[in-house]
Amino acid sequence: MIEPKYKRIILKLSGEALAGDKGFGIEENTIVSIAKEIKKIQEMNVQVAVVVGGGNFWRGRSSEGMDRATSDYMGMLGTTINALGLQDALEKIGVVTRVQTAIEMRQVAEPYIRRRAIRHLEKGRVVIFAAGSGNPFFSTDTTAALRAAEIEAEVILLAKKGVDGVYDSDPCKNTNAKKFEKLKYIDILNLGLGIMDSTATSLCMDNKIPLIVFGIDNPENIAKIIYGEKIGTQVREE
Ligand code: UDP
Repeated sequence: MIEPKYKRIILKLSGEALAGDKGFGIEENTIVSIAKEIKKIQEMNVQVAVVVGGGNFWRGRSSEGMDRATSDYMGMLGTTINALGLQDALEKIGVVTRVQTAIEMRQVAEPYIRRRAIRHLEKGRVVIFAAGSGNPFFSTDTTAALRAAEIEAEVILLAKKGVDGVYDSDPCKNTNAKKFEKLKYIDILNLGLGIMDSTATSLCMDNKIPLIVFGIDNPENIAKIIYGEKIGTQVREE
């Protein structure tokens, strides 16, 4: 059996990744197929923590007229809906999970407690981090960087829908767009590549957290990366 390349990872799933072709909300077949892939890597004894986005419901910047902080809190609640959806999909196929929220909602899930999250991971439970960082003006990409640093994850797998890595321009608009195999964080900032916001990029860079940007349109990519296949774009500090 091939040894997994990583022991503890953060999988960042954007809200869009869960919406399938609907583009909004949760598409059940899509979430089930992602859950199956998570199960696969969890069965390889990889400790899996998932940070879920919320863009399939709401993004803070979706509203121009609304108070930004309020709008961001709405976005964070959206991520919690996704977290519960993913929890349900995972538990239905026998994967033990815990959802931890960065905004307390004890009737729904545990509050985020770092040491407890690590304990769950050590016991083989999949931990789903919901409600982002709990702070407005941040993104779930930044949350992924933050949680990766906190739980000492070896890598962040940044799942993207509709694109299979980082390009020098938008591949949907420019047929000549060039895909990067490897990148440094500083290049993302200097070239203004829109793959992650600058806060998330800096946090990863400062904490030397490797990142792999890959396409989730084929969820099997998750296991392939864990087996060490070079998929998507590898981003590192050096
Ligand atoms: N959000 C926030 N603080 C955080 C994480 C998320 O305010 O720490 C809000 C923000 O409004 C964001 C929304 O939640 O637009 C959904 O998250 P994100 O846009 O990162 O989701 P994704 O694009 O990954 O689906």
